[in-house]
Amino acid sequence: MGKALIIGCGGVAGVVIHKCCQNSDVFEEIMIASRTKSKCDAIKEKLDGTTPTKIRTAKVDADNLDELCALIDEYKPDIVMNIALPYQDLTIMDACLKCGVNYMDTANYEPEDTDDPEWRAIYEKRCKEEGFTAYFDYSWQWAYKEKFEKAGLTALLGSGFDPGVTQAYCAYAQKHLFDQIDTIDILDCNGGDHGYPFATNFNPEINLREVSAPGSYWENGHWVEIPAMSIKREYDFDQVGHKDMYLLHHEEIESLAKNIPGVQRIRFFMTFGQSYLTHMKCLENVGMLSTTPVEFEGHQIVPIQFLKALLPDPATLGPRTKGKTNIGCIFTGKKDGKEKTAYIYNVCDHKACYREVGSQAISYTTGVPAMIGAMMLMTGRWNKPGVFTVEEFDPDPYMEALNKWGLPWQINDNPVLVD
Ligand code: NDP
Repeated sequence: MGKALIIGCGGVAGVVIHKCCQNSDVFEEIMIASRTKSKCDAIKEKLDGTTPTKIRTAKVDADNLDELCALIDEYKPDIVMNIALPYQDLTIMDACLKCGVNYMDTANYEPEDTDDPEWRAIYEKRCKEEGFTAYFDYSWQWAYKEKFEKAGLTALLGSGFDPGVTQAYCAYAQKHLFDQIDTIDILDCNGGDHGYPFATNFNPEINLREVSAPGSYWENGHWVEIPAMSIKREYDFDQVGHKDMYLLHHEEIESLAKNIPGVQRIRFFMTFGQSYLTHMKCLENVGMLSTTPVEFEGHQIVPIQFLKALLPDPATLGPRTKGKTNIGCIFTGKKDGKEKTAYIYNVCDHKACYREVGSQAISYTTGVPAMIGAMMLMTGRWNKPGVFTVEEFDPDPYMEALNKWGLPWQINDNPVLVD
């Protein structure tokens, strides 16, 4: 059917690449392009001969618009899959517009340098107007809507698990299960154990920024912000068991608040073990999570980037991780005039992911929906010009593809609710 340019070759991209190669009818050719070309070559070498998909590799700095455009013009892909970092979102969107090609990613834009005065002024205005202080928000990418519409191109934002699949669950609930959704609780449980006292399951810099930020939720038309980790609940997750979970700010709350009509409250909870929280608090207290450069023996060092260099690479956690993830959405609302609840969720096994594609379940649960999102655009199942999040499209083909490509979901009509 076509060609995809995959940018990035880290933990999540490894899964995307395997999944595209399993789906050669759609992904006839892929190009893997990243900063470190040797990583792209290593995965090509592993997969060549096991798949009909033709694989090429390239070196690219996705912060450099000219380099990106030269690569896109030469390869002529049908879609650019941004599986690098949120820092690159805007540059890659610019390149797609310039070269006339569809775009997708798995996380919304945030700047690498949060001290940049130009960015900071806009950020501080947004904090005041919107009422949440996370470094990431959709405004930067939504600002591209008109440009993509005019160019007749589609940008699909956040097609990972959360964001991504969680929004497909919401669109599915809205379409098939409810006349009115009143509340949504997104629960992200990782019951996996990698045996390290402290490691992150995806890019440490992005992960620790997200988790150490104040939490917030949407209620009755506005944001409520709370100190980080100050709302804790315990939940008994199917196939995982009892876990402590904490309310976090998360990007899909922002788009769901706009796209699920009449929703009164949206919250996001993630599970953390005590060891993770103790390490994170200590690192935060000593300044290791800071994004502001410090001078060290004549060098400028960004503490969180230095910490990333010390922590295990998430792409190497696969062989060590055992246990399961359970991620889903609990809905309350009304159907045919009666109160109704539903819980749509997926359970994913770390070891099974490793056997299939050599990765742990966090990369797997992100990489599979990234492949599916790209497939939706490449096959024309999702086809409208502009900038969209997952819940703005018909959920049915996406939900069907989740069952087919490794992330089957189930519905519990009588879940325990979170108070
Ligand atoms: P990794 O750090 O493992 O990989 C990032 C990759 O991007 C690396 O290969 C890196 O190259 C490459 N890269 C970074 N900067 C550039 C650049 N300027 N030009 C070209 N390539 C670059 O991250 P993950 O795989 O863990 O995460 C990937 C994305 O997935 C992130 O945006 C993350 O936020 C998102 N994510 C989304 C989730 C969801 O459910 N929606 C869940 C988990 C992650 P190099 O190897 O040379 O450093």
